[in-house]
Amino acid sequence: MPDNTETSVMDQIFDRALEQNPHAAELLKAFRPVITMQRQLTESLALPALDYSVIDRDRLRAGVPFIRQISLFSPDDPLERIALSLAGAIREGMPKLTEEMDRLSALISGRKLRLTDYFAARSGKESRATQQRINDLALSPSNASFLWSLTARVLLERRSREAAEALGPFDWEKGYCPVCGEFPSIALIEEEGGKRFLHCSSCGRSWRFTRVVCPCCEKEAQKEMDYFYVEGKTQESAFVCDRCKKYLVTLYRAGRLLARDMDVSAISLVHLDMILQDKGYEPMAVCAWNIFG
Ligand SMILES: [Zn+2]
Ligand SMILES: [Zn+2]
Repeated sequence: MPDNTETSVMDQIFDRALEQNPHAAELLKAFRPVITMQRQLTESLALPALDYSVIDRDRLRAGVPFIRQISLFSPDDPLERIALSLAGAIREGMPKLTEEMDRLSALISGRKLRLTDYFAARSGKESRATQQRINDLALSPSNASFLWSLTARVLLERRSREAAEALGPFDWEKGYCPVCGEFPSIALIEEEGGKRFLHCSSCGRSWRFTRVVCPCCEKEAQKEMDYFYVEGKTQESAFVCDRCKKYLVTLYRAGRLLARDMDVSAISLVHLDMILQDKGYEPMAVCAWNIFG
């Protein structure tokens, strides 16, 4: 059930992003139906309960994320429903993928492609079997994993919120995500106080991280020299690390007045991805919108 408040908030966020970032209009329009549907599903889905009490604070302090302490996917998750809704949103935003999404949707509805197999494969052991299955069905693996990673995001974001609520505040000092273990897709620096927050696009979690260390390889980076700016733009930059050759697009925030969606912000900064990749750097997190060519 779409939540109307959530829809109108997303509409405002996308309208503003389009107005401020005309260079990213094509990407923003392509992802708009998808991200809007993801946020609606995250708000409205009924999910089976998980017991988060097994998550251990000492292990978190040692850098072991939720996903390695508890299974965040349940066999009773409404995977098919989420995937079919998202396949519809992909058709809307990315009409070129219509045929492939139709095929995937038919296989999912007909239970010929079981998403639980894919999610089990995220643990690593069965990935070759799943790959073979995708090959047998003559689907494009990249489109199938695109749909599944979008599906996973919906579930992980909900689990992340539930777990954080059950757990209360906890210590986390790593540059990768405390929930799913992925590296951040974008950082936000508050102008007042200068705190840096990293954002994970795989699960939607944000966490505070020191500004003087590379989130990826943990090299200390003392100087503002480590930030790349486009001339005339002071609100947006990219952290670059010369040791691991990774970059992280970074946004400066003056106030908290406007609602923000960090994935929409990351897509809006795609010109920085192009420039930094041109210079030979790689993104810390590979996202559907920052892979070119
Ligand atoms: Zn995450
Ligand atoms: Zn580094």
